[in-house]
Amino acid sequence: MTQSHDVVIIGAGLSGLAVAHFLTKANPGLDLLLLEHGHRAGGAVRSCHDQGYLAEWGPHGFLDNNPASRELLADLGLDRLAQKAPLTNFVRYLCHRGRLVVLPQQPQKLLATPLVSLAGKVRVLGDLFRKPLPTEQTIADWVARRFGPGLLPLADAAATGTFAGDYERLSIDAVMPGVRRLEKEHGSVLRGLLHAMREKKKKGSGEKRQLPAMTSFPGGMEQLTEILAAGKPIRFDTTVTSLRRVQRGWEVGCEGSVSFVCRRLIVALPVNAALTLLRPFGPPVNAIPEAKIATVALGFDAATAQIPYGFGYLAPEREQRFALGALFSTHMFPGRAPQGQVLLEALVGGRRHPERLDLDDATLVERVYADLRQLLHLPTPPTYSRVLRSGSGIPQLELGHLRLQQWRAALQAAQPGLFVCGFGWEGIGMNDMMQMAQATAMAITAGATDARAAAVKPVYF
Ligand SMILES: Cc1cc2nc3c(=O)[nH]c(=O)nc-3n(C[C@H](O)[C@H](O)[C@H](O)COP(=O)(O)OP(=O)(O)OC[C@H]3O[C@@H](n4cnc5c(N)ncnc54)[C@H](O)[C@@H]3O)c2cc1C
Repeated sequence: MTQSHDVVIIGAGLSGLAVAHFLTKANPGLDLLLLEHGHRAGGAVRSCHDQGYLAEWGPHGFLDNNPASRELLADLGLDRLAQKAPLTNFVRYLCHRGRLVVLPQQPQKLLATPLVSLAGKVRVLGDLFRKPLPTEQTIADWVARRFGPGLLPLADAAATGTFAGDYERLSIDAVMPGVRRLEKEHGSVLRGLLHAMREKKKKGSGEKRQLPAMTSFPGGMEQLTEILAAGKPIRFDTTVTSLRRVQRGWEVGCEGSVSFVCRRLIVALPVNAALTLLRPFGPPVNAIPEAKIATVALGFDAATAQIPYGFGYLAPEREQRFALGALFSTHMFPGRAPQGQVLLEALVGGRRHPERLDLDDATLVERVYADLRQLLHLPTPPTYSRVLRSGSGIPQLELGHLRLQQWRAALQAAQPGLFVCGFGWEGIGMNDMMQMAQATAMAITAGATDARAAAVKPVYF
């Protein structure tokens, strides 16, 4: 059986759903079909409603400072429903020598933080005098060279909080291309930042810069993908196994001898899943590492638990903690626990400690509680616990990722009608996905033969 459609999108995760949204918005009546391996839409985005608690298997939130996501939310009417935890009111903590210390959220606050010694703060200015290196570097090497070793724990925490990754392997060029560009154009990051500030002032928007807010929804993150999926033509339980170029475009082969023909094909999958399908069309290329994490959701009696106000904390590797960090979920988004209870969601595993995910649920809960009670006042054991193991790994943009991005660009240039977006190509955050989806839809609508026009500047959560 072969059906024909103008556009086929492989994957009904956030990326595929968002491309479908932006495409149909610009081209009402477009004949498109989404093919989804699972029997639900949303992919890694999945919320857990259990005994009055609301926790997340996957993403917990994204910042509201990305134009593509803002547009998407407004289109869906979710901007009015969204729950927001503004960075102006909330802080993050860093585990430092076994205690929680407030993390500076803006560069100027670095001056006052006890997390960096006076010598370390002075060394940051070394950035003004270091020539940019042209080669791809790890985050750790780059931060140490430009700003000195004093900032390494902060960089480690940032890589842990976003990628559950290892900053000694992640590529600064792939993770923060904008910062690298600034550094190369101005000879120094600080000089580049000052230049950008002066330019903004010259343009004189007069607007006071506001810090963004962490965003979720009353029904959890899944509310976004559920609303996005509603009414979309999605064929569930359909696993794409092969792609073939045909005269009219592409033939998409699925398990069970089902196939589809389309003029334009969008592969909206995590990098490794996409490579499985796309490898035959380009030079040999390797899969990339993924980091898996488990969320350990713990409820505590609000009368006894004392949790400092804020988003949560992160623990750099040198602190040797069991959990990568924890979200103070009911501070961020009230109403996620029954009356009189608070919810914490600790994260375990990641790129450096995958072996911890082999532990059974009871041991994970025990080890996380033992870890947390050294940092927070939690005198009584949890009243509720649930371990949420995400089936999705977080793609790691490690050293060499730029070559993979070039591989994708060359593939799209050589294969008209093929568009590749999704988890891990240009970034990993939800904002990155929505931005790439919008750019892909714009490139298709403009009649571009490939998605080079869709090159994006990633935004991180
Ligand atoms: C544990 C975890 C925590 C995260 N936390 C955050 C966070 O706090 N903030 C944030 O901004 N981001 C976070 N992220 C990232 C965020 O979840 C992703 O950016 C986003 O969900 C990726 O969407 P996607 O559609 O590209 O990929 P996916 O969500 O992986 O969706 C891909 C879809 O394709 C389907 N599929 C795969 N192969 C095939 C095939 N061969 N045929 C048909 N269908 C197929 C899959 O079933 C899936 O539904 C987190 C991710 C994880 C895993």
